[in-house]
Amino acid sequence: MAQIRVEALDKSFADFHAVKAASFTVEDGQFLCLLGPSGCGKTTTLRMIAGLELPTAGTIRLDGEDVTMNRASARDIAFVFQLFALYPHMNVRRNIGFPLKCEGIGAAEADWRVVEVARILRISHLLDRPVSGLAGGDRQRVALGRAIVRKPKCFLMDEPLGALDTEMREAMIHELRALHDRLGATTVYVTHDQLEAMAMADMIAVMNNGVVEQIASPRDIYDRPASLFVADFIGSPPMNFLPFRGSLQAGAQAVRLGGRDVTVPAAREALPESDLVLGVRPEHVRFSDRGVLRGEVYGSEYLGTTQIVTVTTRYGALKARSPASVSFRTGENVGLDFRPDTLSIFDKTSGRAVR
Ligand code: ATP
Repeated sequence: MAQIRVEALDKSFADFHAVKAASFTVEDGQFLCLLGPSGCGKTTTLRMIAGLELPTAGTIRLDGEDVTMNRASARDIAFVFQLFALYPHMNVRRNIGFPLKCEGIGAAEADWRVVEVARILRISHLLDRPVSGLAGGDRQRVALGRAIVRKPKCFLMDEPLGALDTEMREAMIHELRALHDRLGATTVYVTHDQLEAMAMADMIAVMNNGVVEQIASPRDIYDRPASLFVADFIGSPPMNFLPFRGSLQAGAQAVRLGGRDVTVPAAREALPESDLVLGVRPEHVRFSDRGVLRGEVYGSEYLGTTQIVTVTTRYGALKARSPASVSFRTGENVGLDFRPDTLSIFDKTSGRAVR
């Protein structure tokens, strides 16, 4: 298998700067998700790794070898798209085996490899069926089969589950991850769906406006967002933001928020008086009569075991996740508290996290 290293990758289309100095490494056998909103440059980055798009600047290395200028066919990479590009006039067996035929692999070996791939994907019973009549999930398995059968060094996938309905998508998320664990192939997977990325990735690279804002494990992306953008993009509902003005020392301390002291964790470095933003996830907002902040209940959204309670405060509407068994009255005056070790602090001007 292979390590993919992307260094200072840039892509401009005429005067539009689509990807800006993207750098990241996908270690051998790792599953990396490129995650971000529509138009942030995910697909362009993937296409450059595949060799379908030439970078304006930067380097792509496969196992240390500079492949930046190599043709796609010389890269030993398999690409899986959202739209299942299957050959409609061929059956499943011939669709999966097609890449082997192109490579000139003998019929006996090709047959054996197709059967093995079909077994892994649990579509052995469909091998002689025409692809035109298959359901979405099975069509996508065939598309995956065609990628796997070549035994490429790595897989690049661009929203491969985007065309499936929710139920099928959820099932395929688990299948894809299990398949990855089994094959151990280095994978770069593009999605705009944070749940998909959270469920599947070893590492997530969050992109915004052509820039990789953060690369980290799903847990760190969620718990330690590197920027206001990441904090806002990840999590549903997203993190609450409370703007305040203050200075920070290096080390645990209290900041003044709404006339009260709020204990916050150690900042990375001291910061002079500036515009800051305190970030707190809804599940880390606690209802407490002696809370640092007071507000009025605006409403609540019932989610089964939990509810999202919206509270109007001097900092705007804050969302708190609470057990569904607790009742709240609209207009009720409540106190809110935050667990200090879970708080994020951002520099409002740069948008970067300072802790
Ligand atoms: P989506 O999920 O919508 O595909 P994305 O994050 O994958 O979004 P890209 O497809 O990489 O985004 O596109 C990034 C930006 O570059 C977009 O604004 C897009 O319009 C632009 N772009 C992509 N390809 C070209 C092209 N060939 N010519 C001009 N602009 C392009």
